[in-house]
Amino acid sequence: MITCYKCGNRAVIYRKYEGRAWCKKHFSEQLESKVKKTIRDEKLIEKNDKICVALSGGKDSSLTLYLLHKFFGKRPDIEIFALTVDEGISGYRKESIKIAEKLCKKLGVEHHVVSFKEEFGKTLDEIVEKKKARACTYCGVLRRYLLNKKSREFGATKLAVGHNLDDEIQSIFINYLKGDINRLIRLGAKPAIISKKEFVVRIKPLRNIPEKETTLYCLLNGIQVHRSVCPYSHDSVRFDVRNFLNQMEEKYPGTKYNVIKFYDTLKPALVKHFKDKGGKVRICPRCGEPTSRDICKTCELLDSIKD
Ligand code: SF4
Repeated sequence: MITCYKCGNRAVIYRKYEGRAWCKKHFSEQLESKVKKTIRDEKLIEKNDKICVALSGGKDSSLTLYLLHKFFGKRPDIEIFALTVDEGISGYRKESIKIAEKLCKKLGVEHHVVSFKEEFGKTLDEIVEKKKARACTYCGVLRRYLLNKKSREFGATKLAVGHNLDDEIQSIFINYLKGDINRLIRLGAKPAIISKKEFVVRIKPLRNIPEKETTLYCLLNGIQVHRSVCPYSHDSVRFDVRNFLNQMEEKYPGTKYNVIKFYDTLKPALVKHFKDKGGKVRICPRCGEPTSRDICKTCELLDSIKD
């Protein structure tokens, strides 16, 4: 039997990158302390914040809501609510919305659902069918737009997303592969670059937690989550980058933490050098949302799907 490094009880996880095993109690405590440390070090949450959690019903966003509620639920000066985007992906999203609703009910958290169909007139399935295009290209842009717009309309001061360590390093690689320096320097637990009142500040409390560990915490602590994978996810750059990074971590344990540490060391210099070269953030004359382009990407995509 593999035993816990700290107490000698039966271990539930062996971390190759650390060379130690942990029991349920010590694993859960460590994960919570790591998330608290990220929140504290990066000043993710402040007095009088109204936090909107972008909740899909999957493990990462459910864990984000669960932990923020656990840490801040009793604070009278902090409000938490959840927002789910229904993109309109048949056989997938409806089930995850049910699970998201259940979690909000259990925690007593207000829950809002907005949909592509109501906001844009088409579901993601209809857009993909019409454009014969990669779903993620449309989904990512339109969902980000809705999360920012709706969380702002509901009065949020912060938008908490469930990005974990794996998501973050995948984004580092994707932006590197695309040569997109402007997006690269905006990564982090809380982007420091954009300060425009139309942008709700996005925060990533799980940014230092590996994906496998968010799954395990949910399992061990009875958080019901939606387990299915989006049917479109295989057709994306992220899917290939994810596989590559998982293979590297398997072969060279510690790779993922090395990537994020390297990025965090390099970022201040990159920001200093590139922050004024990415174009000013302005307001899209069509929709009133912030953008660095003349017409924002959302309006451009919406134009392309008009009947
Ligand atoms: Fe949207 Fe792509 Fe994620 Fe599916 S995998 S939810 S299509 S971004």
